[in-house]
Amino acid sequence: MLVASNNHKLVFAQNVRPGEQYYCPACRQPVRLRRGKSKVPHFAHLPGADCAVSEGETGEHLRGKQQLFDHLRKQGLQPQLEVYLPAIRQRPDILVRHADRVVAVEFQCSPLTVQRLLERNAGYRRLGIKPLWLLGQPYRRRLSSEKVAQFTQLIGGQPTVLYWNTTTARVEYERGFYRCSFAKGRQPRSKLLQRQTIALTRTQVGDLLVSQLAERVWNTVHQPLAHCPVVCHDLAPTWPVTRVALIYWRIAVVTALMARPLFSAWSPAEWRHWLWQCGQPYWLTFACAPITILTTVFNQLTADLVAAQVIHHCGGRYVLFCHPYWFANLAEKYASLNGTGNHRSNRVKLLPKER
Ligand SMILES: [Zn+2]
Repeated sequence: MLVASNNHKLVFAQNVRPGEQYYCPACRQPVRLRRGKSKVPHFAHLPGADCAVSEGETGEHLRGKQQLFDHLRKQGLQPQLEVYLPAIRQRPDILVRHADRVVAVEFQCSPLTVQRLLERNAGYRRLGIKPLWLLGQPYRRRLSSEKVAQFTQLIGGQPTVLYWNTTTARVEYERGFYRCSFAKGRQPRSKLLQRQTIALTRTQVGDLLVSQLAERVWNTVHQPLAHCPVVCHDLAPTWPVTRVALIYWRIAVVTALMARPLFSAWSPAEWRHWLWQCGQPYWLTFACAPITILTTVFNQLTADLVAAQVIHHCGGRYVLFCHPYWFANLAEKYASLNGTGNHRSNRVKLLPKER
């Protein structure tokens, strides 16, 4: 920590006087000053001290905290370092008032479980404090979808993972996590469809979620996952929101549609709730972003279903117009993807013809 108390005053580690005793503002146990040529001066608990808010702090964490404090001050704000909040037994790295809100700025360098993050954010929310999470160097390696989701924040309405770079003393915005199922980078539509289809033939076992879905699909339409309608394929890159590839959620939705009678109708709110429900086991935990983070994938699938004439938007409601076509075999699907087939992917089963 960078701040300790002495005679009921808070003192910065860089301003300490020799021969004085300093105490942890949270647990009131004595702390020791540490400094060195390459070290940021800081206080540390004595060995064996049991303090609720003390974490092993790396040099990067101490340096970043100090830089953030200076950075905010230069912007004319009045940040406070390491304020202990006894009501929630938490000590944010920095507390700062900005645009009528109190913001807790956290510079996270050590591992943090999603459970712990949810608890910390819930604590801040209880006090009306808005948390802002900046990540350090250990989070620069390839992040799993779970970690991306855990630390995703909406900045200017856009999903973002924020970093604090201690080398440049600047905030960095990372938004490069968009992707399609089973594909890195942009690819031509037909190539992507083929790639996803091949991946679907391979991933039928192993993951419990996926094998349960495969079973449900088989029981509903008597086809394997890879024979799914073209409308199931996610062809526009999206922010990671699901535990498994997004295409599985889309297949789950389309399979659920197969079981609904034609002309079923939903209000837009019911439709969104239904899309959410179909994906319940699939969603990742977003500890720092609202549920509206899912709006983009909802809108995309809805637009694709409308374009494929599976559903129609009429009279302010979404109406199920036809059940999408599942291919009988892969040869038929590939032929349709390459444009050499008889376009059965677009063939829809409308109402049986009346005679
Ligand atoms: Zn302490």
